Amino acid sequence: MSTNSNSISLSHASPDASAQQRVEAIFGADVFSERAMQQRLPKDVFKKLLRTIKHGEQLDADLADSVASAMKDWAIDRGATHYTHWFQPLTGLTAEKHDAFLSPDGVGGALSEFTGSALVQGEPDASSFPSGGIRATFEARGYTAWDCTSPVFIVRDGGNATLCIPTAFVSWTGEALDHKTPLLRSMEAVSNQAMRVLRLFGAGEAVTRVIATAGPEQEYFLVDAKHYAERDDLMACDRTLFGAKPPKGQQLEDHYFGSIPTRAMAFMADAERELYRLGVPLKTRHNEVAPGQFEFAPIFETANVAADHQMLTMETLKRVARRHGLACIVHEKPFAGINGSGKHLNWSLATNTGVNLLDPRDDTHINVQFLTFLCAVIRAVDIHAELLRSSVASAANDHRLGANEAPPAIMSIFLGEMLTDIVEQLESGNPRSTKKGTHLDLGARTLPMIPRHTGDRNRTSPFAFTGNKFEFRAVGSSGNIAWPATVLNTIVAESLDVIASQLEKELGKNFEPASDQDKLVKACKKVLQTIVKQHKRVLFDGDGYTTAWHEEAKKRGLPNHRESVVALEQLGTKKSIDVLKKFGVLSKVEVEARTHIHLEKYTKQVLIEAETAVSMSRTQILPAALRYQTELAEVVAATQAADVDASDAREQLEAYVELVAKLRQAIAGLEHATEHEGSDTVQHARHVRDAVRPAMSELRSICDNLETIIPRDLWPIPTYREMLSMR
Ligand code: ADP
Ligand code: MG
Repeated sequence: MSTNSNSISLSHASPDASAQQRVEAIFGADVFSERAMQQRLPKDVFKKLLRTIKHGEQLDADLADSVASAMKDWAIDRGATHYTHWFQPLTGLTAEKHDAFLSPDGVGGALSEFTGSALVQGEPDASSFPSGGIRATFEARGYTAWDCTSPVFIVRDGGNATLCIPTAFVSWTGEALDHKTPLLRSMEAVSNQAMRVLRLFGAGEAVTRVIATAGPEQEYFLVDAKHYAERDDLMACDRTLFGAKPPKGQQLEDHYFGSIPTRAMAFMADAERELYRLGVPLKTRHNEVAPGQFEFAPIFETANVAADHQMLTMETLKRVARRHGLACIVHEKPFAGINGSGKHLNWSLATNTGVNLLDPRDDTHINVQFLTFLCAVIRAVDIHAELLRSSVASAANDHRLGANEAPPAIMSIFLGEMLTDIVEQLESGNPRSTKKGTHLDLGARTLPMIPRHTGDRNRTSPFAFTGNKFEFRAVGSSGNIAWPATVLNTIVAESLDVIASQLEKELGKNFEPASDQDKLVKACKKVLQTIVKQHKRVLFDGDGYTTAWHEEAKKRGLPNHRESVVALEQLGTKKSIDVLKKFGVLSKVEVEARTHIHLEKYTKQVLIEAETAVSMSRTQILPAALRYQTELAEVVAATQAADVDASDAREQLEAYVELVAKLRQAIAGLEHATEHEGSDTVQHARHVRDAVRPAMSELRSICDNLETIIPRDLWPIPTYREMLSMR
């Protein structure tokens, strides 16, 4: 089997091939990895490129031609014919435009060409991507710029192999039009501020950078492709707009804790193999709570690589599912009444030397450092709860956040018993011990030892400390993690900036980390004590689903924006703009553009759903309802003709006719609600929220009721029971 083949699999490897070879046939075979670079690049070029990738040094323009040529040869060797700059415009999807490496030379041969400038910069026609008003229509130009910190990869589909180059996408005036640019900027910001803190803690010379790490878990549903294709709502919106619940209990019993169905297993194995080839390090797979729901989780990576890999994962899952006669649904709420899907964003900070800064180690000196970073996060989430909430807002996530299955829209932090206790001690100004006896640390040292695992598992918190990282659970399953990660990095950068400045002031100019440990610990205690006092209101370990918490949160003054229009409006506030601007993540213009784009997307998404609902109910459900009405009428007529009392059948018919009339009214009502004059984005989004969404619910409840009455052979679309019992 040639190495360019699309279908190398473990099972095809010869039985005596070494494990290593078999592994190499799959893992990273389609990424231009560090190893591939080393093999193909001149030594000095490789070293310089690595310095840019590893240490964030400016990319040397002279390298580009050499790298491009090696990359092209590698890709052509692997069967690629085209290349594309792969980017993440604000549509929430990825975009690509393919160019051929090879062109006919007119005498029966081919020329291959891929220059450094084609690698480094692209110029796609940007006019059809959202810009939020940044780009005047007469100036449609946009640039893509190579992000050499995220490896290039080859995507294989439909017999084609295409080299994909991860890029940032900016307007001709340099404003970010994508998700990658601000993420990279925010990583820089949090690194710079974290380094200031680490220097005070006496970080060695080897520590030059701090890296934001991310490990996103992806929940998704699988349904039969046939059912998917038979439902306009799934095809157009990736979620069902109608569907009566199957009999209670039935939908849960055979899935949760069940073994993975054979078809799903085959799909998963195939998807894993493709993703391994692309260098995406998937680690776990399992059934989720709802029937037909599953999850994949990767090993964490540098945040921007993780974000690219996450987009690639969603695309790959969809593509591979089609090959298995399945449809992979990543929507937050494909089925009403059944658990939705999230994308838990696990996040932490690590030094370039590999030390996880949110890992509560056993050494007291590092504990102070850990507590400093912990408090930086607590402060950030409390102060910027609204910005953080807005980063996960979308029409789709509204069906999940704040409902009784996903974390509430109140951005509180779960720390677990042990850390909560320690934070309380910090507040008292004199922390002495940890709560559990095993690690009790008395004596001369000022701060206690902290056990590595708190042991607690609270699934109802939107933002939980889980042992050595935070888990942001409010992220929706279809969203791009780049934006919430950008916000997290930025707000934590701000906290670290404030903490570093306060510590620097406390410690004075002549502070020597090596000899002044006591002074440092004293200063930290003072600074952290104030932070805990001011921001402890954001800490909550109880059940986030209860109404008692909602009331308590209100008393504490914590914001609770249950729906996305209000949440998105918070992105445009001065407070949000200031913090994003201060750390060079987004300018005011860029933030305003994003607010506009997100609100517009919200409106468009709901309107597409509304139009689909109108069309399905008018052209499929109403005709089915009328057919059944005819049947019922025939029953009445036939019964009467047989000279039998038909009053019962007549009553049934009368009640039914009333219901059908309601259906007609509801269709007209929704159609009317979708009509809206005026061009103001916020007004339109509010109108969609206040008029269109309720009209959709009204129509849905009537249709779902009809579904329970109309015979299955007349009902025009696959039912929940059929879709959710994948065979
Ligand atoms: P659970 O479902 O219990 O949350 P999983 O194992 O499914 O656990 O997911 C945990 C995720 O957290 C994985 O993607 C893992 O790579 C990620 N993770 C672990 N450590 C870190 C870290 N330091 N930074 C970012 N993500 C991390
Ligand atoms: Mg998790």
